[in-house]
Amino acid sequence: MNLFHSIRWRLQIWHGAVLLLVLTAFGFTAYQLAHENRFRMIDRELQKATDRLFKSFAPKEHPDKGKAPPDFSRSPGKPPSDFSKGPAEMLMSVDIPEPEDTYYAFLENGTILRASKNAPANIPPPQTFIEGASMRTRGELREQVLCKNPGTSLVIGRSVATDLADLHRLAWIMGLVGAAVTAFGLIGGWWIASGTIRPIKDISDTASKIAGGNLAERIKIPHAGNELGPLAQTLNATFDRLHTAYEQLRAALKRQTDFTADASHELRTPVSVILAETTSTLSRDRTGAEYKESMESIQRSARRMRQLTESLLALARLDSKHDSERVPCEVNVIAREVMESLRPLAEQHQVTLSHDLAPVQIRANPGQIGQVVENLLSNAIHYNHPGGSCRIRVALENGTPTLLVSDDGAGIVEQDLPQVFERFYRADKSRSQSNGGIGLGLAITKAIVEAHKGSISVSSQPGKGSTFTVRFAPEN
Ligand code: ADP
Repeated sequence: MNLFHSIRWRLQIWHGAVLLLVLTAFGFTAYQLAHENRFRMIDRELQKATDRLFKSFAPKEHPDKGKAPPDFSRSPGKPPSDFSKGPAEMLMSVDIPEPEDTYYAFLENGTILRASKNAPANIPPPQTFIEGASMRTRGELREQVLCKNPGTSLVIGRSVATDLADLHRLAWIMGLVGAAVTAFGLIGGWWIASGTIRPIKDISDTASKIAGGNLAERIKIPHAGNELGPLAQTLNATFDRLHTAYEQLRAALKRQTDFTADASHELRTPVSVILAETTSTLSRDRTGAEYKESMESIQRSARRMRQLTESLLALARLDSKHDSERVPCEVNVIAREVMESLRPLAEQHQVTLSHDLAPVQIRANPGQIGQVVENLLSNAIHYNHPGGSCRIRVALENGTPTLLVSDDGAGIVEQDLPQVFERFYRADKSRSQSNGGIGLGLAITKAIVEAHKGSISVSSQPGKGSTFTVRFAPEN
């Protein structure tokens, strides 16, 4: 992995560089200040030594013994006025106490006229003439040089070896502390960067698992207040939606496969009947009556196939959300027409029909609404017993256009109730088949009602009867 492509390493390198820069600048400034302070102190010491030295001259230069020696503190760095004029003999005669920490040397034209015992052997004169006092550093020596005129100078100095050693020690300590702080900063930075990167890694790991097919996997939400929390929540919500969509798709696919299998199965039966019937009839010569009987059987199978294909076509149209034309239609009028058309069937099953039809108008496809009424009412007749009754009611219930079809027939057992609207579901198989039912009537009814933004429900008591309730959207 390229270090410069890693966020963690880039953060780390940046933090390290900034920390090093800040610490170096701070250390350098602190060292410079310490250095300046120390040399300012040394220079003050040298100034005091100079003042003490000049006091040695005071009694001889001033015969009046009561007079105070010249006060150099008021004019620091200025030698006494007679100093430069003084001949070498005068210098020799003056009693100058030997200094302890400092040394001095009087120079004339580069020659040392007089020097303290601890003075170094080689003390060069100032390279350029600067009147008054100036400071210079020679190796481990610090010196104050006083000139009155070119050629004559006084040098007062001292060794700064211990001071320089102190400053070097200080530099080392600051370097070590700086290195420790840098290491601490880098470790802390690494720790924080790792903590920051971890949720991103979690997100990426989870996304990989999900991409690998584990759709139930979710990202751990980082601590509250973490900026990545909302991202993790949004991604989790997206994964939830994806998961749901995937499950719905899978369920739809399964339904589709089951549906195709059921449809094929339903078609296979009449086709098998036709094939068997024709094979058996054609196997030998038949009488006219036998041919007639055979043809009637084939016709029944063909009717069944037609019913099935028509139902499948109706469902396919409803599934494709193909919006049929909607016009204002009177539900009560449609209900009455369907009821009248089914009256012969009801009579055949010895079932009485009654109605309670209030005028209700909705915007709908009248053919499809007729189909809904027909499916429900024909079921109410088919799944009834001789002497039973069916009732159809159309009303506005709390402003909702409602259609109720009830019967006092066989009823539906509780565990079958949720499935009756499923395609090819038949609660009472033998009865349904003997009625010519294929298990698509209620599925088509539900699809039509939902296409009209309505709802359908059923309540039933086995042996007492069932009631199917269709509610259309009030704005329909
Ligand atoms: P089918 O063609 O079998 O009638 P439907 O979709 O119309 O198919 O009905 C599904 C199943 O619901 C039926 O097989 C039947 O068992 C049950 N069913 C429907 N209506 C009634 C009813 N009024 N009374 C009792 N059972 C019913």
